[in-house]
Amino acid sequence: MPLVPMRVLLDHAAENGYGIAGLNVNNMEQIQAIMMAATETDSPVIVQASRGARKYSNDAYLRHLMLAAVELNPSLPICMHQDHGNSAETCFSAIAQGFTSVMMDGSLSEDGKVPSTYDYNAQVTRKVVEQAHAVGVSVEGEVGALGGIEDGHGAGLSQAEAMEHLTDPDQAEQFVADTGVDALAVAIGTSHGAYKFSRKPTGDVLKMDLIEEIHRRLPNTHLVMHGSSSVPQELQDIINAFGGAIKQTYGVPVEEIQRGIKNGVRKVNVDTDSRLAITGAIRKVFAESPGKFDPRDYLKPAREAMAEVCKARMIAFGQAGNAGKIKPLTCKKMVDFYKK
Ligand SMILES: [Zn+2]
Repeated sequence: MPLVPMRVLLDHAAENGYGIAGLNVNNMEQIQAIMMAATETDSPVIVQASRGARKYSNDAYLRHLMLAAVELNPSLPICMHQDHGNSAETCFSAIAQGFTSVMMDGSLSEDGKVPSTYDYNAQVTRKVVEQAHAVGVSVEGEVGALGGIEDGHGAGLSQAEAMEHLTDPDQAEQFVADTGVDALAVAIGTSHGAYKFSRKPTGDVLKMDLIEEIHRRLPNTHLVMHGSSSVPQELQDIINAFGGAIKQTYGVPVEEIQRGIKNGVRKVNVDTDSRLAITGAIRKVFAESPGKFDPRDYLKPAREAMAEVCKARMIAFGQAGNAGKIKPLTCKKMVDFYKK
């Protein structure tokens, strides 16, 4: 089947009470890892590429990797999503490359760093929604700002500063009415990158109650949790056991994500966990077999390690077992849906 708009996947997830991991791709091994996990678990797939990924791998390579995934896995619904589009132009160029979903992150100005105004955010997101929906492509927006920086995108807020930029439920409601987005990323105290919390997060720093409040007000909007890697201790330990230097850190516990999924969260962005798994596996080969020099000797275990993490998340979020149940719709069909 052709690439599927994200809205189709999130609607099915909402009707059936599960969440879907939004997994980032920069190269061939990462998309292969995701597809290995999805095939094994019969999971619908959201693969996403940041601006940094598009620059790193080049749009043409990236597009063909996605098309290869589609060709090799005809029974799995796969969505290709632009992660953190910084401007309408970034989103439109993604659509031109065949992405079936885009995030217009107008919570930051076009430089991807400085928090913007509500009016700018609503206006630019509305513009993207109009043009994306006209061709059946889904749109994710964001209100509030996360901590940290990922791929050069982010205000670089500390965890404490991020607590001052949490999503305001009134504004979230207004934003959805003003823009017509399919999905809304909310800021609830999480940060991008590996360093999210300095201890296992409790309700004072990870505001799951805020998700519940937003979901009460917007029961028909798909909510998105960013910066939601769990940063497992064992992955930190593997890296550090083989010469790495990851400072002790804590991510978003899987059980908190599951609580979010019970309250309208349909997309959960996970990138750091994949990165940690890959790095740990490569470090292990380098440390244990310093004589090896064939990239396949370390990329193969790296790919397997990432697939394991992806598989665990797909099962925990409940998307496993659902690929075959989704009636795929093309972007073309979605044009009629949005016209109604
Ligand atoms: Zn994000």
